[in-house]
Amino acid sequence: MSATNQLTSAIRELQSGLGNRVVSPRDAGWDHARRAWNLAVDQHPAAVVRPASADDVVAAVEVAREYGLRVAPQGTGHSAAARASLERSVLLDMSGMNQVEIDPERRRARIEAGAQWQHVVGPAADHGLAGLSGSAGDVCVTGYALGGGIGWMVRRYGLASNSIRGADVVTADGRRRRADTDSEPDLFWALRGGGGNFAVVTGLELELFPVRELYAGVLFWPQERASEVLTAWHEWSTGVPAEMGSLGRLLNLPPLDAIPEPLRGRSFVLVEAAWLGDEASGAEQLAPLRELGPEIDTFGMIPPPGLAALHMDPPEPVPGEGNGMLLDDLPANAIEALARAAGPGADSPLVSVEMRHLGGAARRADPSHGAQPAVDASYVLYAVGMAADAEMKRSVRRRIDEIQAALAPWDAGRFLNFTERPTDTARMFSGDAYRRLREVKATYDPGNLIQANHEIPAAEA
Ligand SMILES: Cc1cc2nc3c(=O)[nH]c(=O)nc-3n(C[C@H](O)[C@H](O)[C@H](O)COP(=O)(O)OP(=O)(O)OC[C@H]3O[C@@H](n4cnc5c(N)ncnc54)[C@H](O)[C@@H]3O)c2cc1C
Repeated sequence: MSATNQLTSAIRELQSGLGNRVVSPRDAGWDHARRAWNLAVDQHPAAVVRPASADDVVAAVEVAREYGLRVAPQGTGHSAAARASLERSVLLDMSGMNQVEIDPERRRARIEAGAQWQHVVGPAADHGLAGLSGSAGDVCVTGYALGGGIGWMVRRYGLASNSIRGADVVTADGRRRRADTDSEPDLFWALRGGGGNFAVVTGLELELFPVRELYAGVLFWPQERASEVLTAWHEWSTGVPAEMGSLGRLLNLPPLDAIPEPLRGRSFVLVEAAWLGDEASGAEQLAPLRELGPEIDTFGMIPPPGLAALHMDPPEPVPGEGNGMLLDDLPANAIEALARAAGPGADSPLVSVEMRHLGGAARRADPSHGAQPAVDASYVLYAVGMAADAEMKRSVRRRIDEIQAALAPWDAGRFLNFTERPTDTARMFSGDAYRRLREVKATYDPGNLIQANHEIPAAEA
């Protein structure tokens, strides 16, 4: 059978089992169905399946296997830029499976795999609880947690991957399984930080934490003060308790009507922070930064769902080009190098360059943790710009390369969730963890059916 006939037969078989939950390139709505959150990524899978249940996932996996196709699960496509060609893959758009249940007694959230943080934080907050969410409400919990998950409370409660208490999955052989400490423990270990390489996740059970309110907000200064403010923030960050999560950032806001007047079209250096404590103790912690006289100060007490607004991430899909790196430190000469590459007067095409503070629980490995037990770095940098056309994309990419080259002396490796280009996955794990991940891949997916964004090859037999 020719490759084209084979694809046609595979689509026909998918449609006979799953009906209109399958979208093929010939169907109306194809361009919407194949879309990723990152609109700069033009995905062309063989077909899109929108599963409504774990049984639908089994059906899609079985047809893909029979016809020599791969399956590529997608939560939202926030990280679609790193994925290889989908030409011979069925894209599993998991977004329709988004039910969430909170068990306040056991402090657990049971979620379907397509749920986004915005579906979880409200119901959890109704019980005075919070999950380890990141900066954006519309990121899928599953993709985020499988890839590590660095949230506002990472220094106090660690990586989100290590808050996974169980996963319901469909493996490459089409079987539904449960992965937790008692059942499929190697698979459970690999899922917690090894990304989407090992199984299609259909549901997760996550630990929640007792958090009713935080003292959180943003301090803005004109970007001309970048070196002074970032140096002060770095010094301050080395002494704060684990209850303080923060980041330093260069922000260039476009002149869009949607952006309020005091910010529109301006460039800032800022510090965003979230303190697990009350207003008085939080204000005491922030005092050294406030002494620098910020132009705008938005701090106040907020419930955990309010954290999603702090970082001002785009509320809708956008075309972007971004990438990140881990840094072992951020001394004054690193800040100078960064300011030269992307600060005032550098005519930067980037919207944002941020450095998130790690350490604390983020750096503490425990034998009970998964494949990404901790982050052996002090900061994670992420730089991003708008990429509405090829020229914008090239110019943003070039500038990110320049920043990474300038910060090479402090390079501490790559973190899966903040890597948005095809990258050697060996750089994301310790040598032992990487070897074990390759073995788990060989056990559960020897034929390489499941296509993650950052692929970990199966160990050779
Ligand atoms: C605006 C923005 C803000 C962000 N903020 C943070 C942050 O604060 N902290 C942080 O750590 N990261 C952050 N990220 C990175 C984000 O966590 C990653 O992009 C993550 O991969 C997104 O998961 P997703 O499922 O939404 O994306 P996708 O691109 O759909 O998926 C990412 C990966 O997860 C896999 N996957 C998704 N669902 C499943 C499933 N059901 N089964 C198996 N594999 C699956 C996919 O195959 C793919 O390999 C941010 C990214 C953006 C663009």
